[in-house]
Amino acid sequence: MSTILDIDGVNKTFGGLHALRDVHLKIEQGETHAIIGPNGAGKSTLLNCCIGRLIPDSGSVTFDGNNMIGMKAHDINHAGMVRVFQTPEIFPDLDLLQNVMIPALAKREGTFSFNPFKTLAKEKAIHDEAMETLADFELDKFHNKLAGSISRGDKRRLELAMGLIQHPTLLLLDEPTAGMARHDTNRTIDLLKSEKMSNMTKVIIEHDMHVVFSLADRISVLARGHIIATGTPDEIKNDQKVKDAYLGEGDDE
Ligand code: ADP
Ligand code: MG
Repeated sequence: MSTILDIDGVNKTFGGLHALRDVHLKIEQGETHAIIGPNGAGKSTLLNCCIGRLIPDSGSVTFDGNNMIGMKAHDINHAGMVRVFQTPEIFPDLDLLQNVMIPALAKREGTFSFNPFKTLAKEKAIHDEAMETLADFELDKFHNKLAGSISRGDKRRLELAMGLIQHPTLLLLDEPTAGMARHDTNRTIDLLKSEKMSNMTKVIIEHDMHVVFSLADRISVLARGHIIATGTPDEIKNDQKVKDAYLGEGDDE
């Protein structure tokens, strides 16, 4: 196995708050790696340090052999590290087909500075791939509906489609099932396990242990900004430090 993402000694403070403390984590090619931990543990901060939204105070983030620190968020995205979820990042006033075509075009062009209304109609190949991608997510029948008008579960699947059409090397999912009903959660699990997605390298931040144990090859537990354990689901289930710090607490949700 080769390491696709190497987080080495990352620290991040906000004023007096030490949100990440000497975080070391290696994500291996092809694995699904879950990061769990109570609210406020630093999970989103860690992801934001990887994708260029935050700059760590110290430490390094190496993706696909390249140092990511100081790179702009959209350049990191273009390099193949794609984040979806937690904040809704769809275009509510465009239809679903346009929503999926735009990230595909942005990926090809390496920029968002094009006029989608002039361009989309001429892009037959991207149009066809976007329709196929919508079909994979059972959204094709809504392709000409405005993205803002579909249900919450459908919006989440749309975001996943927008991530997938960029052919990411590494997909980062921040709480993909937060706020979902059980039915939509199970649908999302099935999608993430489907043939198209099962071999893609993924990092999943998730509260729902059913989702974590259904999907993860390995799990890392973050508590108060520090990784206290990394291991297989069985190792994590039986780790006394984890039981003490997290699983035994009943957590927050
Ligand atoms: P998680 O995603 O695990 O719930 P976060 O990474 O969002 O945790 O937050 C970790 C800690 O850092 C929390 O105490 C949070 O309040 C704080 N924090 C996160 N982002 C900021 C910010 N931009 N400014 C100040 N404090 C922040
Ligand atoms: Mg978070």
